[in-house]
Amino acid sequence: MIIDARSLPGGTKIDTEVCIVGAGAAGITLAREFTSARFRVVLLESGGLEFEAETQDLYEGRLLDTTLAALTASRLRFFGGTTNHWGGWCLPYEAVDFEVRQGLPHRGWPFDKAYLDLWYRRAQEVCQIGPYEYGPVSWGIWPEQIVPPFRGPNFVCKVLQQSPTRFGSAYEADLRQAGNVAVYLHANALTFVTDEMDKQVNKLSVGSLSGNRFSISARVYVIAAGGIENARLLLTSGKPNGPGLGNQHDCVGRFFMVNLNYSGGQIIPSDPYVNLDFFSGRAGSVYTGFGARQGFVSFIGLSAETMRDLQLPGAKILWQYKFKPVADAVSAARRFAAGESSSEGTLADLAKIIGNLDGISELAVRKALFHQGLPVEALTLDCSSEQLPNWESRIFLDIERDALDIPKIVVDWRLTPDDKKKAAATLRLLGREIGRAGFGRLRSSLDGEDARWPEDLYGDEHHMGTTRMHVDPRLGVVDADCRVHGMTNLYVAGSSVFPTSGASNPTLTIVALALRLADHIKERLM
Ligand SMILES: Cc1cc2nc3c(=O)[nH]c(=O)nc-3n(C[C@H](O)[C@H](O)[C@H](O)COP(=O)(O)OP(=O)(O)OC[C@H]3O[C@@H](n4cnc5c(N)ncnc54)[C@H](O)[C@@H]3O)c2cc1C
Repeated sequence: MIIDARSLPGGTKIDTEVCIVGAGAAGITLAREFTSARFRVVLLESGGLEFEAETQDLYEGRLLDTTLAALTASRLRFFGGTTNHWGGWCLPYEAVDFEVRQGLPHRGWPFDKAYLDLWYRRAQEVCQIGPYEYGPVSWGIWPEQIVPPFRGPNFVCKVLQQSPTRFGSAYEADLRQAGNVAVYLHANALTFVTDEMDKQVNKLSVGSLSGNRFSISARVYVIAAGGIENARLLLTSGKPNGPGLGNQHDCVGRFFMVNLNYSGGQIIPSDPYVNLDFFSGRAGSVYTGFGARQGFVSFIGLSAETMRDLQLPGAKILWQYKFKPVADAVSAARRFAAGESSSEGTLADLAKIIGNLDGISELAVRKALFHQGLPVEALTLDCSSEQLPNWESRIFLDIERDALDIPKIVVDWRLTPDDKKKAAATLRLLGREIGRAGFGRLRSSLDGEDARWPEDLYGDEHHMGTTRMHVDPRLGVVDADCRVHGMTNLYVAGSSVFPTSGASNPTLTIVALALRLADHIKERLM
């Protein structure tokens, strides 16, 4: 059932077994797993079923570095959460992402990839994507199609699948129909009220922007409010003027990570007609290369062996094609033949065609005889690098408060010189490998020895690490079960628990971990 919390009488006390805060990818996944359970579940959502500016403003906060995506643009605060406008790109973390690794500090998850595979497979279904297959061959890209040096040993072709799922609209009906699940809209978790020792949550205070206040008492609480709000809720709870919950070692809010996006420079291919069909890239529409299977996009990444041997973090390299000017004339000719014209008009198109007649006829011959496409002048690189975990990169509470009287957050996002050095080393390796393979030359944008990034660097919307998972409470906020260290009944779901950020997009892993947490809670309550 779905209830608007603004209609509840003030002071209402709700009893339940499980209380989940936040109806985004993590919270909705958890709640759906409980729809056939024998216990009651409350799912609290700050927003309504649609976007409301007043609720979205609760996401305002201060960025000390504005190369990070703005906080109100990088999250959405209504039913379905940020999946209401996510790109849908899904990719599991690789085995190497879970490992403790030489030369890279603060790495290692409490379990390995093989252990998580079971939940990854189930996450594929929740995200409504294809099979749990991410090797190019499964997507119709054969090794012989992949030109050197992108078939190993250092660089390999990888695949992302695209989910069409907006979690709110896709799963609203399931939750509405579930007799044991109550979704409260316009219900903001305000603060967890704990016992004397801050070991157990006794109740959760909840409020609506309309002024309504009520509380939830549950056996188990899960915070699933997004990568930043998860930490904010821990910091604003517990004893007045205390450090917050799970924060006895000053870990909450620290190790804040995102993926680093920047233009990596240009590859000038030796052969402008090189066959790059294996690579669909971001610029094109989703390449549905075979059958009716899910859309996917291929990209270039480092092999696991090279990441291990050269102590490199993950990287995702996509490129956009810059075609030779004759390609423009070919497009003009195609338009002309179809009786259409560009925005510049038919005469401008005709001028392009006449000025490039030789080029166009050469292309026609090449296409007819050798099935060759348009000549490529350069491949412009769009890179995404994994940010290294860093204690100094953090979020903390501001003195300014929001409309619910909760402290806003400040984001002090920090990169280390190593972030730049490792990303530059990856591009240097790429330059060397494409030279050696005779593929072309790379003009890298990261050549300088200093820590400066290209001007278009931006930290993206994938907020991770602020309540990281670690077996040692001095190095993490939650344990391997995602339970807050030192607390009996408080759990965290979402990318805030990731100890490392990887180069994969986070949501598939968020969903896999939420499914695993649901299994753990079911076992605990049965
Ligand atoms: C433009 C954009 C594109 C993206 N593209 C991709 C992509 O291609 N692939 C990918 O993997 N990821 C992508 N992401 C990231 C992805 O959207 C998130 O990883 C995912 O939504 C996180 O899920 P979540 O449940 O942890 O948080 P959210 O989806 O943000 O959900 C959190 C929910 O908690 C609610 N909430 C917050 N505070 C409270 C409170 N105090 N009380 C009650 N409720 C509260 C919010 O209203 C929200 O509904 C993208 C993000 C953006 C912004």
